[in-house]
Amino acid sequence: MPQDLYGRNDMAGEPQDDCLFCKIVAGQIPATIVRETDTTLAFRDINPQAPTHVLVIPKAHYETAAALAAAEPQLAADVLGATQAVAEDEKLESYRTVFNTGSGAGQTVWHAHAHVIGGRGLHWPPG
Ligand code: 5GP
Repeated sequence: MPQDLYGRNDMAGEPQDDCLFCKIVAGQIPATIVRETDTTLAFRDINPQAPTHVLVIPKAHYETAAALAAAEPQLAADVLGATQAVAEDEKLESYRTVFNTGSGAGQTVWHAHAHVIGGRGLHWPPG
């Protein structure tokens, strides 16, 4: 079986027993879900950095946004489309969509996700 960057078996697309966001998809861990499609789930971040802080994920497990885009471009587009829908639902005129990719960029959960952050002024560049 192929291995990923971290020497784990590469089960891209398949639910992972040790993945927090796969558990949220499976309903095993509670989350405040704000939007759901056949392929995506959006729920509020447990540690919000702004009045609106929603995470949008593919239901299928990919470790990073890069891995997701490479393997399933349509699913990556579904995630991006869901971020726009969340921003509309939250009535955000300005907002930021962030994919932290890699630990050096602050990624802490290894299931691809977009942060939708808004409801306050946002500075640029980010830290
Ligand atoms: P990352 O740092 O990987 O880009 O983002 C992971 C995000 O997941 C963080 O903003 C963190 O607050 C959020 N998070 C971590 N654990 C949970 C959880 O159990 N539930 C929810 N809703 N968000 C979580």
